[in-house]
Amino acid sequence: MSNKPKILVLGAGYAGMMTTKRLSQQLRPDEADITLINKHNYHYLTTWLHEVAAGTTTPNSSRVMISDVINTKRVQLHFDSVVEIKKDEQRVILENGELSYDYLVIALGFETATFGIPGIKEHALKIENIDSSRHIRDHIEFQFARYSSGAEKSEDALNILVGGAGFTGIEFVGELAKRVPELCKEYNIDRKKVRIINVEAAPTILPGFDDDLVEYGQKSLEERGIEFRIGAKIQECTEDGFIIGENYEEINAGTVVWTGGVQANPVVGSSGFDIIKGKVTVNNDLRVPNYENIFIIGDCSWVMDKENDRPFPANAQSAIQEAETCATNVKALIRKESLQDFSFDYKGTVASLGGSDAMGTIFDDKKLYGKKAKAMKNVIDDRYLFLVGGPKLVLKKGKVKFF
Ligand code: FAD
Ligand code: NAD
Repeated sequence: MSNKPKILVLGAGYAGMMTTKRLSQQLRPDEADITLINKHNYHYLTTWLHEVAAGTTTPNSSRVMISDVINTKRVQLHFDSVVEIKKDEQRVILENGELSYDYLVIALGFETATFGIPGIKEHALKIENIDSSRHIRDHIEFQFARYSSGAEKSEDALNILVGGAGFTGIEFVGELAKRVPELCKEYNIDRKKVRIINVEAAPTILPGFDDDLVEYGQKSLEERGIEFRIGAKIQECTEDGFIIGENYEEINAGTVVWTGGVQANPVVGSSGFDIIKGKVTVNNDLRVPNYENIFIIGDCSWVMDKENDRPFPANAQSAIQEAETCATNVKALIRKESLQDFSFDYKGTVASLGGSDAMGTIFDDKKLYGKKAKAMKNVIDDRYLFLVGGPKLVLKKGKVKFF
């Protein structure tokens, strides 16, 4: 058995993949053993899951075999599910065994938060991973097939209800605006019979985003047949749909999708880490308070922006940047050097609105709309593919078309 320090990285999402990639490039083989543990043998592009759920992108084009992009001569890949982290014993319990570590990086991503709303857990579909997103796509198509064949008589079955108009909800209804007319054509159903209804509790869609971008996005989506119920809190989810607002109005639908927010992977809380507002607040060097050898990054943690007294945004952009700092700091611990604090380099936020439409800001305050914004969104997506898999992966999976 090797006497080298053992580094375990849990989760091969944006945060885990980039940490592993950087560790494998920065640490010499004699300095440490590196193991990446993930549920599946593939990495998926979480930022494309709304497309998989709507059926505008296939599951296969949204995933990458981990062994195609991680150096397997340097990193041991272990495909299993993490069940518990025994943080005081430096062990990780897996579904099919266990592993010990000297340094641990927890990057297990998110689960959809239900906020205790009755019925959401039992009845609503969620955009959480490739399988749950593919399930939504198949469920929608099943509703169309049943109605078209006469097995289902109620037009409500064709309705698609989406709870929450944050970025996930908005990007999902944008894809539906493209996909539903295709399904109507395929199943010979009048488009007017299908309602796509997005319900949001806040006074606007995309709460907190600039007013003119919000206005642009809402108008664009309404023109393509999306209905919004804004300022309407979802009180309950039933087998048949949502109960919303102060008057407890019922809206029925054959497909009900909840995109109301995210929290840390449940393994983190059940392993005894301190959860505040759904996630673990880590130190600015990304380590867990009182655990010098455990880092938590990506959607499982909050990193405080001390200047503005609030957490940095939790998204793919920050997960990738946290991974850089995390790898640097694991290396620093092994080499007995000083650790760095995480600092977030905001590059902008662009929301896709489906088809060739999008809107957002880049480099702090430059606003982009329509095709220009969509082109920028594609560049952002391809930049990540480049970081993780080089030009080969961009050519294979990328969104920007070169030929
Ligand atoms: P993930 O990318 O979710 O990866 C977690 C990994 O852990 C997965 O590989 C999973 O299989 C694995 N895993 C989970 N549980 C276990 C277990 N028990 N055992 C072993 N492995 C496990 N952010 C942006 O910046 N830009 C965008 O355009 C954008 N679009 C988005 C669109 C959608 C539809 C969604 C849902 C999110 C989007 N986000 C976007 C947010 C972004 O995707 C997340 O912030 C980002 O994925 C977080 O990265 P992560 O590595 O923490 O988690
Ligand atoms: P979110 O928290 O950003 O949005 C959830 C929305 O649901 C909010 O608008 C909230 O007001 C609403 N909501 C909550 N409870 C409700 C209720 N009872 N009734 C009605 N509405 C309710 O969550 P998300 O959209 O899943 O996004 C998760 C993370 O992923 C965020 O950090 C987001 O920025 C990121 N993301 C980014 C992009 C992008 O950059 N293009 C795309 C998707 C997601």
